Amino acid sequence: MLISDKMKPLLENNSAIRAMFEEGKKMAAVYGAENVYDFSLGNPSVPAPLEVKQAILDILEEEPSGLIHGYMSNAGFEDVRQAIAESLNRRFQTAFQAKNLIMTVGAASGLNITLKALLNPGEEVITFAPYFVEYGSYVRNYDGVLVVVSPNTETFQPNLDEFEEKITEKTKAVIINSPHNPTGVVYSEETIKALAAIMERKQKEYGHAIVLISDEPYRELVYDGVTVPYLTKYYANTIVGYSYSKSLSLPGERIGYVVVPDEMEDSSRVIAAMTIANRVLGSVNAPSLMQRVIMRCLDAKVDVEAYDRNRMLLYSSLKEYGFTCIKPQGAFYLFVKSPVADEKEFCEAAKKHHILVVPGSSFACPGYVRISYCVSYDTIKHSLPGFKKLAEEYQLS
Ligand code: PLP
Repeated sequence: MLISDKMKPLLENNSAIRAMFEEGKKMAAVYGAENVYDFSLGNPSVPAPLEVKQAILDILEEEPSGLIHGYMSNAGFEDVRQAIAESLNRRFQTAFQAKNLIMTVGAASGLNITLKALLNPGEEVITFAPYFVEYGSYVRNYDGVLVVVSPNTETFQPNLDEFEEKITEKTKAVIINSPHNPTGVVYSEETIKALAAIMERKQKEYGHAIVLISDEPYRELVYDGVTVPYLTKYYANTIVGYSYSKSLSLPGERIGYVVVPDEMEDSSRVIAAMTIANRVLGSVNAPSLMQRVIMRCLDAKVDVEAYDRNRMLLYSSLKEYGFTCIKPQGAFYLFVKSPVADEKEFCEAAKKHHILVVPGSSFACPGYVRISYCVSYDTIKHSLPGFKKLAEEYQLS
């Protein structure tokens, strides 16, 4: 076979989420798109803010084409990075400068340049189940080993006792994600402080840095006035990965950034390594037009209220029908306990009602399913009779 040994398992397990997406398209062709309730993908349903379109038009009129479309530093435009740094400083009382930021091709690329810069073969990266399935692929890209802490299914807050036990001499980094995909949980300040204290202790014990990687594409999508702590203030060896995929509904444009604070050990060399990683991994730099757009849209926001309406309707209806799930505080996902231990069986049963949801085993948390509620309000409304029938089939109430 021509393909590499590393790629073979990826071909075989080709993401269940994608497979579901394809199935949704097929079902839509047979039953009509309006009769299929596809909750499988995290593709934002809320349009990008109008400021984005206006910024694109203005930039094309006002800025020189060589600037808009040319190469720039592999870290991105300096003025764009400086503007984002100042915006972060205003919002979170931090002290970043342009040099602390690297523009990236979305959060995915931010994680990849981070891991490329940090990992030696065999070094371990810890994360908490359930987790965004690509973390495993990203860590393996650099011959690292992903170590998974089992889920606390009562709260879906991180299981810190097990976390502490799983930190070893080989632990190089820890990936956390809050607001969280797939549960919608937001880590509280107490949780962050406890996590940071454990990591400080372990750094001392092993005599080397353990990097906290905060994957934050959902930072802006929070409800009920919940706040999301800015992690560099709690733990010096933190790298923050951000993306505009969800916060400005621009996932296809592939734009985000990472922040490496000065307080981080070996900060300037880490930044230099990550910048080179941008180049050698082949993305070279983040899309130039989108960088210029972000500079003009620093205060733009998507309609989070629309997601909140979806959240409330779906959560309250499913609870009423007898399903078990925690109320999400952020992102646009509901993580629901499957009425049968094998959640794939439940996903199949849901399909009979034209409802597509993703099995929790895709997030290393079997027995649950993820419902992405970044869909239209009508999709949710029209799916409810199907969920009600499912609850009846499984005698939930
Ligand atoms: N991290 C998490 C937790 C995600 O849910 C996603 C996308 O759904 C990503 C990273 C990748 O985001 P991006 O589109 O910015 O690469």
